[in-house]
Amino acid sequence: MLDQSIRDKYTAVIGLEVHAQLATNTKIYNTDSNSFGDNPNTNISVITLGHPGTLPKLNKKVVEYAIKMGLACNCNISREQIFDRKNYFYPDLPKGYQLTQDRTPICMQGHVTVFPKNGEKRDIPLNRIHIEEDAGKSIHLEGETDTLVDFNRAGVPLIEIVTEPAIATSDEAASFLTEVRKLVRYLDVCDGNMEEGSMRCDANISVMLNGSTTLGKKIEVKNMNSIRNVQRAIDHEIVRQIIEIEKGNQIASETRTFDAATGTTAGMRTKEELNDYRYFPDPDLSPLHVSEEWLNAIKASMPSLPNELLEKYIKEYQLPEYDAQVLTDSKEIALYFEKVCAQTSNFKAASNWMMGPVKSYLNDSSGNINDLTLSPEQLAEIIGLVDDSKVSFSAASQRLFPAMIKANGKSALQVAEELNLIQDSNSDSIGGVIDEVLEANPDEVAAYRKGRKNLLGMFMGEVMKKSNGKVDPKLANQLLRNKLEEAVKP
Ligand code: ADP
Ligand code: MG
Repeated sequence: MLDQSIRDKYTAVIGLEVHAQLATNTKIYNTDSNSFGDNPNTNISVITLGHPGTLPKLNKKVVEYAIKMGLACNCNISREQIFDRKNYFYPDLPKGYQLTQDRTPICMQGHVTVFPKNGEKRDIPLNRIHIEEDAGKSIHLEGETDTLVDFNRAGVPLIEIVTEPAIATSDEAASFLTEVRKLVRYLDVCDGNMEEGSMRCDANISVMLNGSTTLGKKIEVKNMNSIRNVQRAIDHEIVRQIIEIEKGNQIASETRTFDAATGTTAGMRTKEELNDYRYFPDPDLSPLHVSEEWLNAIKASMPSLPNELLEKYIKEYQLPEYDAQVLTDSKEIALYFEKVCAQTSNFKAASNWMMGPVKSYLNDSSGNINDLTLSPEQLAEIIGLVDDSKVSFSAASQRLFPAMIKANGKSALQVAEELNLIQDSNSDSIGGVIDEVLEANPDEVAAYRKGRKNLLGMFMGEVMKKSNGKVDPKLANQLLRNKLEEAVKP
């Protein structure tokens, strides 16, 4: 255990390297299919296998996707690029080198805004985003001495997003990954699934005494398959490093692996054992020029991004920041909400419906909003009926909404009529019901008159019961008050 007073003497510094597999149809340097989960070694041409004499050809979509991500992260897009060979030997790397961008990353600088749970909203600066190819996958089967290799993943396009060492807490790191995942999903460039490995994160972590101007030696931690585990790995590593330093030991740069079962990290290799990659420009791929025209076309094709929508919901729709965050969490929810808002001007009601009945229904049915059989137009109709006092909110959420889901495109008004939910907003008939209730409860009327104002709720309950819940509650409440106050007068 680490004493809090000792923990407080240190500042943690974190830098993340995030790999995202791009959701292109084909691989980065040839036309082999880029699909996950196929039988091993079925998407492997001689180019993927790096046979002598084969030549790579760059997939234009890969560049487009990388530029989109760069624009979404406020990066400078570099217009002239070369590809480099990163040389090392490993059985899952058939060419003996990885084609990557060392000196000319396609995107430079930029930032991602984070919203940590226990901290302030902040811009995390990026160092770069570059394009590279994935390696194959070595498969070590339990109890077997042999290792198998699946080359389907070899040549799958990746972008690597590298932050500056500028993240201060595991909370900020988690928010960074959440925001990056949101961005790749909004842009449709990667499915962002960390559990399946289509988004992967290495965390670089160091600690230093508060106020120090030189960064501590960093440890790189790998193998976290969820945002939660990245957070756990960082928290564990910060404490471990402080304990080592307090014991008088030096931190040696090393790569460690995270064990989710124990929440701890263990050494894999020290940096001294690392290869010298002997980067040099690949002679097979020609340098890449990004024209002004192409860049502008990509800019024009950018969808609305979560931050833009967040701001719009707060400023234009006047929604609380909490609502705006929840609604922009997923692109599908945001798109649906936008369509509802195109049909109603009661944005707050639309937001409440999305975060309340719609969300609970999706949770209960473990469904996706894309499968919701209630259209945004129909939801807007329901909101309209409530706003016009035609249907009470409780009847709308408890009876009309579930019925609409099965209503096959019928209008909300039609279904509300079929279910007999249209409420009475005629003051004469409501007045009649109220009179009946007052006559039936003379003692309570007298008590109300003497000051027991909290009997109002009881009267409302009786009125609702008598009318089968079909009177407009606002109007009924008003009329009831009037009648009770009248009765007080001599
Ligand atoms: P390397 O070449 O050793 O991998 P880089 O300078 O390319 O190191 O940085 C890799 C990642 O490590 C980046 O995300 C960077 O922000 C982070 N990083 C660099 N130095 C530190 C440090 N002292 N503490 C924490 N993270 C660091
Ligand atoms: Mg690294």
